Amino acid sequence: MKLNKHDKTFSDYIRDRDDWTCRRCGRVFGLINGKRERGLTCSHFWERRRLRTRYDKDNCISLCFPGCHTLWEHEKQGDYQEFMLMWLGKDRFDALRERANTHMKRGDADREWQDYYMALKKANLKSKGVISTPEKSSAYPPDGSGGLI
Ligand SMILES: [Zn+2]
Repeated sequence: MKLNKHDKTFSDYIRDRDDWTCRRCGRVFGLINGKRERGLTCSHFWERRRLRTRYDKDNCISLCFPGCHTLWEHEKQGDYQEFMLMWLGKDRFDALRERANTHMKRGDADREWQDYYMALKKANLKSKGVISTPEKSSAYPPDGSGGLI
């Protein structure tokens, strides 16, 4: 599926939330000469074509590519699911599945994310124009290990 500008802003949001760290192996993607090191992707647990959860913060984590991204997205019922359950807890995990199976029009999904992102941007304008992301992931998984391994 082709990525649009909303996918890009959302991907930036998720990777910033995760402190540019792969949630599986813990590799940190730093800045080199002011430019972000490449290779960290925003992974969708429920695939992107499910529009209701396309821009859902509970549905996405940062994974390095190809390494962890390929490994986990290949078989979502295994370790990836275990991680999601541990991270979200059963109630949030179930609620996410519910949303993933709910229909939403493409335009509505795009608009909902764009509205959220614009509001966030506006709220952050005073702080150097940098988007600061609520719900930083440093606090989870609950054991604070920064990943499963
Ligand atoms: Zn990784």
